[in-house]
Amino acid sequence: MADCIFCKIANKEIPSNIAYEDEKIVCFHDMEPQAPAHVLIIPKKHIASLDDMTEEDKELLGYLMFKVQDIAALLGLKNGYRLVNNCGEDGMQTVKHVHFHLLGKRKLTWPPG
Ligand code: AMP
Ligand code: ZN
Repeated sequence: MADCIFCKIANKEIPSNIAYEDEKIVCFHDMEPQAPAHVLIIPKKHIASLDDMTEEDKELLGYLMFKVQDIAALLGLKNGYRLVNNCGEDGMQTVKHVHFHLLGKRKLTWPPG
């Protein structure tokens, strides 16, 4: 999608600090990290939000979920981590390309704000 910043990252049209990439997904470091480890995992395909996924995206997002454990291991998150998806206005989603925050390397508090 032409105006989407995360599509641009996936297409290498704008720079990012990529931690993991394969043919279906990209994982890059968040530019405003909220924990010592904070990456974003996105499908290369543009899907605006979790609420916009369709039947045909089930396999792709299932694949992304399956890869979380590998990415967590790559980042050395031996002591656990948190996976977050912000969806829509109340979820405070700011970038309209579905993404999952993977946070770790500190004790994360609950509940979130
Ligand atoms: P959300 O509020 O869930 O939509 O989160 C969007 C996240 O994307 C925020 O944590 C931003 O810091 C992050 N972000 C936005 N633009 C970039 C970028 N160009 N490179 C890395 N992270 C970004
Ligand atoms: Zn996009």
